[in-house]
Amino acid sequence: MYFDNAATTVPSGAAVRAYTEALGLFGNPSSPHAAGVAAREALEAARAAISSHVGCRADELYFTASGTEANNTAIFGAFAFASRRTKRIVLTDSEHPSVEECVKRLEAFGAEAVYIPTRSGILDIDALAEALTKPAALVCVMAANNETGAVYDIEAVRKAIDKSGCGAILHCDAVQGLLKHADMKRLLKCADTAAFSAHKLHAPRGIGALKVRAGLRLPPHIYGGGQERGLRSGTENVAGAAAFAAAAGEYTAEKLLSVKAVRERLVKRLSEAGNVGFNVPPKHIDGILNISLFGIKSETALNALSVQGIYISASSACSSRKGQSRVLKAYGLEKAALDSALRIGISPYNTVEEADKLADALLTARERYGRI
Ligand code: PLP
Repeated sequence: MYFDNAATTVPSGAAVRAYTEALGLFGNPSSPHAAGVAAREALEAARAAISSHVGCRADELYFTASGTEANNTAIFGAFAFASRRTKRIVLTDSEHPSVEECVKRLEAFGAEAVYIPTRSGILDIDALAEALTKPAALVCVMAANNETGAVYDIEAVRKAIDKSGCGAILHCDAVQGLLKHADMKRLLKCADTAAFSAHKLHAPRGIGALKVRAGLRLPPHIYGGGQERGLRSGTENVAGAAAFAAAAGEYTAEKLLSVKAVRERLVKRLSEAGNVGFNVPPKHIDGILNISLFGIKSETALNALSVQGIYISASSACSSRKGQSRVLKAYGLEKAALDSALRIGISPYNTVEEADKLADALLTARERYGRI
């Protein structure tokens, strides 16, 4: 039973079919002959489809190899674009490492980072307004947090930037957000740049995308043959793009309801058992449920489930080897809640029956191995 869908997801049947078919379009999309043109057409069809889900124009969407690359391209590009005016970067204290580590790297080039609290999964808008009283090159606020599922108020961030006149570019890491919340498309319209990744929604790894608002000309982060209108050189991954589009097309409102039903069952079962903390922000995607299973260490619970073939995680996959989660600390969890935190990643492929089995397995693990 796979409940680690915030780490990655199984490619759907439609995504695999689209991928396999597009592998047949082996031409280089930049080649003028018929094989190249066929590949180009498939690439542009995928771009049009994905941009309709993002809520942007097709010519505002650039393919990358990952969400990480999309974040890097946006952040280094925006900094280069704006840093002659100011080197201040404002970001939340719970960004993904593919955002935070870029900003840390830019500190070596004179950037000043200002962190905005996200206690209880709520972006502190007053602190943001205060930070924006001085000029800023860039504001990074993620669409949905990868550990708590928190959906931050991008619309309020846009308003704060416009009101302040600070001139910052608004970058939004929407890797966990795209298609995962009914408000997401509206929120994403407020971002100047936004990062996406296909493997979080049942497409394969190796393909991501970056939205860049029309009129904003960012310098490239990767140089070479000038593909993707010069922003991201490198021969395009046509099969990956086709699979991304196919998987996105399947992520309907109906699928969101099925994720919600599984989540509600889990919450009900665990609430009835008691002594469980729900690290749930007021506004969240339903696909990420963070709990503290008091009485048993996260790792012990993980291992007890893993030997039964049930997969969940303690925090994010990338921070799992780095000790306690800084995101959950920023959320405001105390030691006992941190030590027993678990992240359950729910996808439309999970069922209510699986939710019951997962709840049983978690509670049995606590009974058997719980000590702390
Ligand atoms: N941003 C967030 C919020 C994520 O959860 C992840 C992946 O876990 C990334 C960025 C990086 O995406 P990718 O794995 O495609 O590089």
